[in-house]
Amino acid sequence: MDNTLLPGATIGIIGGGQLGQMMSFSAKEMGYKVIILDPQENCSAAQVSDGQIVAEYDDLDKLIELAKQCDVLTYEFENVDADAINEVKKYTQVPQGTKALKATQNRVSEKNFIEASGFKVVPHIEITNIFEYHRGVEKLGAPVILKTIRGGYDGKGQILIEDPEKAHFAEIEKLLMHGPCMLEKKIDLKKEVSVIVSANIRGETSIFPVIENVHRHNILHLSTCPADISEKAEQHIYQVGETLAHNLELVGTMCIEFFISESDEVFVNEIAPRPHNSGHLTIEACNISQFDAHIRGVCNLAMPKVELLKPAAMVNLLGQHLENAKNELVEHPEWHFHDYGKDSVKNNRKMGHITILSDDLQATKQAIENNSIWDV
Ligand code: ADP
Ligand code: MG
Repeated sequence: MDNTLLPGATIGIIGGGQLGQMMSFSAKEMGYKVIILDPQENCSAAQVSDGQIVAEYDDLDKLIELAKQCDVLTYEFENVDADAINEVKKYTQVPQGTKALKATQNRVSEKNFIEASGFKVVPHIEITNIFEYHRGVEKLGAPVILKTIRGGYDGKGQILIEDPEKAHFAEIEKLLMHGPCMLEKKIDLKKEVSVIVSANIRGETSIFPVIENVHRHNILHLSTCPADISEKAEQHIYQVGETLAHNLELVGTMCIEFFISESDEVFVNEIAPRPHNSGHLTIEACNISQFDAHIRGVCNLAMPKVELLKPAAMVNLLGQHLENAKNELVEHPEWHFHDYGKDSVKNNRKMGHITILSDDLQATKQAIENNSIWDV
C-alpha cells in the first residue's frame, strides 16, 4: 500500500490544544487540510484548521466519523485509547499505531521499556497500598516522589516526600485511591534536558539538537538550545533517541526527557509520543520544526537532517503571565510571540510562549530572569 500523502490530503488530529494548533499550522503551510476532534468548541487548533468535530476524545462514533473524513489520523496527546485507535484503523491510516502509546501511557511499562532497551531510569518501585509505600520508602531511602502511574502531566498527581516522618498520609492515601502508583527516588539533578526525534513510515529519522529545560513548580518554564552538557552525555542522548525511536517503531514526533545527575549520569525520565513543549523553539531555531517533522512523518515524506540555525531560548506564558507579556510585546522586537488563543485564562495554564533567537544565550536567559513578568 502506498501510504505517502501529498498536500491536498486531509489530516485528522485527535486533540485541539496548542500542540494540535502548531501541527495544524505546519500542515496548512504545506497545503494539507486539517480536521480537529476536541470537546471544546473553537479550541486552539480548530481556530487554524478546516473543520472540527466537537466530541470527547473517547467518543468512538465521532472518532469513526473523523476517520472517514481523513486520509490519515494522528493525535496531539498520549492519553488516546489504544483500542479506539485499533477500531478507527478500519477506516483510515493511523501510521503511529499503538506501540508507542501503550508503552508510554503507564509509568511502569514506560520504565520497563526503557530499561529493556538498555538505558538507565531512576530507582523506582510500584506500589498499590500504604504498606507497600512504607516498604518502598525504606528500600529507596528519602527523599522520594510518589506519582500516579497513569495520566500525570506538569507535575499533576505527584507528591514529594522529603521527610517520611512528616509525610501527609491522607494525601498519599488519596493518590493511591486513584490506582497503583510509582515511588521514585528523588535524585540530585544537575540538569534536565530533552531530545526530539521524528520518523516517517519508511523508518527514516530526524533528530533534533538536545534542549536544556528548567521547570518551576514541575511546569516547564524555560528551554534553551544548544544544551550546555558534556560531549559524552550528548552522544549518549542521541543514541537513546535513535534506539527508542527504532524500538517504538516511531512514526511522527516524540520527545524523551532526561535527568543528568551531579556525577554526569544520564537517566531517562519519560517519553512523550508526540511533539513536546520543550521543542517549541524548533519553530524558529531549526531548519524544520518538531511540528513540520511530525506532519512529514505521518505523511511519509522524506525526513531532513536537522540543523540548528541559531541558538534559542523559549519561555512559557502561563495564565498569570499572558496579559503582562502582551503589554510588553510592543517593546520587544526580538520576541517571537505565540498566543494559543485559549478562551479561559487560568493560573498555571499554558497560554502561549515566547522564543528568542540569540547569539548570547546567557544574556538572554538573564533578561528573562530579570523580567518581572515571570516573577509570579
Ligand atoms: P510529568 O509527567 O508531570 O511531566 P515528570 O515525571 O516529568 O512528570 O516530573 C515533573 C518534574 O518533576 C521533572 O521534570 C523534574 O523536574 C521533577 N522530578 C520528577 N521526578 C524526579 C526525580 N525522580 N528526581 C528528581 N526530580 C524529579
Ligand atoms: Mg515530564
